[in-house]
Amino acid sequence: MLKIVLIGLPGCGKGTQARMMSERYEAPAISAGDLFRNAGKYDYGEEARKYIKKGDLIPDWITVGMLKERLADTDCTTRFILDGFPRTLNQAQELNDVADINVVIELRIDDNTALERLLSKLRCKKCGAIYGGEINPKEKGKCDKCGGELIKKADDKEEAIKERLYVYHRYTEVLLDYYKPREIVFTVDGSKKPEEVFTAICEIIDGL
Ligand SMILES: [Zn+2]
Repeated sequence: MLKIVLIGLPGCGKGTQARMMSERYEAPAISAGDLFRNAGKYDYGEEARKYIKKGDLIPDWITVGMLKERLADTDCTTRFILDGFPRTLNQAQELNDVADINVVIELRIDDNTALERLLSKLRCKKCGAIYGGEINPKEKGKCDKCGGELIKKADDKEEAIKERLYVYHRYTEVLLDYYKPREIVFTVDGSKKPEEVFTAICEIIDGL
């Protein structure tokens, strides 16, 4: 059984690690973003759409509802990786009802690293490809895939990033304390290169 929660500040590399882990451990990687993008597949999706349409924050009960539906899929029976979920204590408690999480990996970076990484993110105006951190375009300012112009990601303006960092410290960080008594929390230095972070994660999982 491998039921993993990946936790860390925005920019800590959760998405990249989740993809690499998913491949190596043959476990589906699930993020809230994926759930929302595939909202049509879920009973709760219709509710989610109403909020997405208005541009409002999606309430916990909908996110949790979709996640519970996703985790009921047969590919999640023994293995999955949750990327950026749960985000709040309430979500973690709800998750508890449907899944016995047995590994929590914290990718730790400091606020400055997070800020620097997120500020350096660029998006292709034409095809939406994302650059930044370890992924740099071959030619500066130009998309490798389509040649389009690279611009700053809209949601990665400094104020917006600081707000996201605040939200993490305020609501998400407490989850480490929540899971701690179960002795399933492992902390990895997320400031290192993705390959090095991945090696550290594999050592933890393989040593279980
Ligand atoms: Zn492009």
